[in-house]
Amino acid sequence: MEEEKRERISFNNGKWETPDHPTIPFTYGDGIGPEITAASISIIDAAVQKAYGSEKSIDWLEVAAGEEAQKKYGTGLPDDTLETIKTYGIIFKGPLTTPVGSGFRSLNVTLRVMFDLYANIRPVKYIEGLDSPLKYPEKVDMIVFRENTDDIYTGIEWPYNSAEAEKVREFMKSSMNVNIDPDAGIGLKPMGKAKTQRITRMAIKYAIENGRKSVTVMHKGNIMKYTEGAFKDWAYEVAQKEFGDKIVTEADLYSKYDGKMPSGKVLFNDRIADNMFQQIITRPETYDVILAPNLNGDYISDACGALIGDIGVLGGANIGDSGAMFEAAHGTAPKYAGKNVANPMGILKAGELMLTFMGWTEAAALITKAVEKAMKERKVTPDIAKFMGVEPLGTKEFAQYLVDTIKSA
Ligand code: NAP
Repeated sequence: MEEEKRERISFNNGKWETPDHPTIPFTYGDGIGPEITAASISIIDAAVQKAYGSEKSIDWLEVAAGEEAQKKYGTGLPDDTLETIKTYGIIFKGPLTTPVGSGFRSLNVTLRVMFDLYANIRPVKYIEGLDSPLKYPEKVDMIVFRENTDDIYTGIEWPYNSAEAEKVREFMKSSMNVNIDPDAGIGLKPMGKAKTQRITRMAIKYAIENGRKSVTVMHKGNIMKYTEGAFKDWAYEVAQKEFGDKIVTEADLYSKYDGKMPSGKVLFNDRIADNMFQQIITRPETYDVILAPNLNGDYISDACGALIGDIGVLGGANIGDSGAMFEAAHGTAPKYAGKNVANPMGILKAGELMLTFMGWTEAAALITKAVEKAMKERKVTPDIAKFMGVEPLGTKEFAQYLVDTIKSA
């Protein structure tokens, strides 16, 4: 498409406005990336076509990144790529090899910083047929909103024997009368109000707009009162001040509503982190949207992922107020590259989430249904077929099955 005819999604401080034919830059990625990205794009296109006919479509714009770009342009992240992503504010990304020890900075980190993509979002919903470790995996339907920019990930820490640690020890002793052991490494855990409240807003808005039943703040505020405890308090402040007519806190649920949730409202509550780890296993149905600071979110996203039995089918996103990046949770799986055996479901799930954020929920729902049907009929790629004991489909054939299912829906 000609440059001047291209349409952009506008992000207006987190309020997405999607034109009917938005341009979305994408990159195939490394390893299995090209196969799974091509497969998922064909399925997404089929869903959009089925849902909206010629009224809506995605204008995919390929950008170079990763190993191919490295060979061709001498960099894994050419300036043109960054410029294009900056122009459109969004990227649909196949997995990229991260060189160990040296080489280019990961695209993930570059984009996260460039667009301040402060929310790491991962939906986890059981799909019938997956080999889950749970007795009732069908009760798993959660989405984790992990804060991406604050907490111990800010990397403020010093080795125990450094001059900086010594200075901190001296300062703590002389100014605050606090002793820190001489053999202790020292780290700081900053957690800010503004960063907490912007992701809280995003999580609650998502819950309201997508008919989710609750938002649970995960924290360890009983121990870390002024960081994790404050995270919880600041989250409640946003919930009550800005969404007071749309949410019900747990305290109000019992004091005002006799324990019965009024219809159309979202329950807002909080749970202590360690308790949550056992409860997502023993009673997953009590969790829906989970809002967590950075470290808790890192842990709980993988723990939730494990509940459905196969992290390979998870997709996710990094989202800010002015941009977004959608990708599978897994990497490049190089041993399967070029063999037509990789499962495209992770990146397809990322695509489904992207459609949801674009407001194209009818197309997203078609993908959800098609995947459920495929699993039910045991039309799956080898990674899942081996647990089901059935003949596998190749990546291309699996994608074609989903396209056909969507077309005939
Ligand atoms: P990985 O690529 O996720 O693969 C680990 C294993 O999981 C694979 O060997 C495969 O083996 C299975 N698997 C993952 N995705 C699959 C799929 N779609 N279909 C079928 N099987 C799948 O993790 P890794 O080996 O640690 O990382 C490889 C490269 O990917 C590294 O360079 C890493 O930096 C990069 N990476 C990139 C991203 C990203 O771009 N966001 C994320 C993670 C890793 P089995 O059959 O043995 O299970």
